[in-house]
Amino acid sequence: MSVLSWASLEQTLTYLEIGGHFRPAGCVARTKVAIVVPYRNREAPNITFNRGLLMNIGYQEALRDYDYQCFIFHDVDLLPEDDRNLYSCEQSPRHMSVAIDKHNYTLPYEAYFGGVSAISRRHFQKINGFSNVFFGWGGEDDDMYLRIVYTGLDVTRNSATVARYKMLRHAEDKLNELNAVRFRLLNTARRRRLQDGIRNVKYTVLKKEYRQLYTWILTSPHTSGAMFSVNGREGLRMSQRKNKHF
Ligand code: UDP
Ligand code: MN
Repeated sequence: MSVLSWASLEQTLTYLEIGGHFRPAGCVARTKVAIVVPYRNREAPNITFNRGLLMNIGYQEALRDYDYQCFIFHDVDLLPEDDRNLYSCEQSPRHMSVAIDKHNYTLPYEAYFGGVSAISRRHFQKINGFSNVFFGWGGEDDDMYLRIVYTGLDVTRNSATVARYKMLRHAEDKLNELNAVRFRLLNTARRRRLQDGIRNVKYTVLKKEYRQLYTWILTSPHTSGAMFSVNGREGLRMSQRKNKHF
């Protein structure tokens, strides 16, 4: 769990091509896989974090660069423990982080879809991606689970012995408060799903850098305060409660 410097990683992972592209010599990949990682420095911009929206942006920006067929949506703080949990897309969307040390290596609840997931481009397009309206902590992953089900697809998982991850310890982030309206938003998942997703996501790319280990995109999502109202309340309003439980 020790933290390596970027310089030492760049010296070790010399087989990566610019932008973090890995193309092993003498091997033809069955699918072209993109790994999308939503990330914001804690002290950075002063709008509330929106994980789903960033996933949608990462998806679209990846497709501008290359003909990816498979997408892994990956929290920055999860480290896979077993390489039999393949970073590939199967016949159904797959929830990959089944057993996380933070959750005592057990699934918190059956409809949990947070952490790491693998979805083919074809399915992601059909599902209309993630919702853009979940600001702050929680709900966007549950909404994705519902979208998959409403689209008529199944969620698959590998066994908990294989689909294991360690989560790097981190404090709760500023401007990522528990989203107090997430349950009410989830009640609207079915009627929202076709108009709220990759089809309507709006953003500006401020910077796109092809670094040695990864491609870095700095983006500014176009979000008005009240993107979706729930019982007359804005989906943005946050609770001050600090305990993070679904
Ligand atoms: N995240 C981030 N900056 C923030 C909040 C969240 O980069 O201010 C990203 C990061 O990839 C993180 C993910 O969103 O792993 C999910 O957030 P968090 O790890 O807090 O959720 P939890 O550990 O409770 O599932
Ligand atoms: Mn985390």
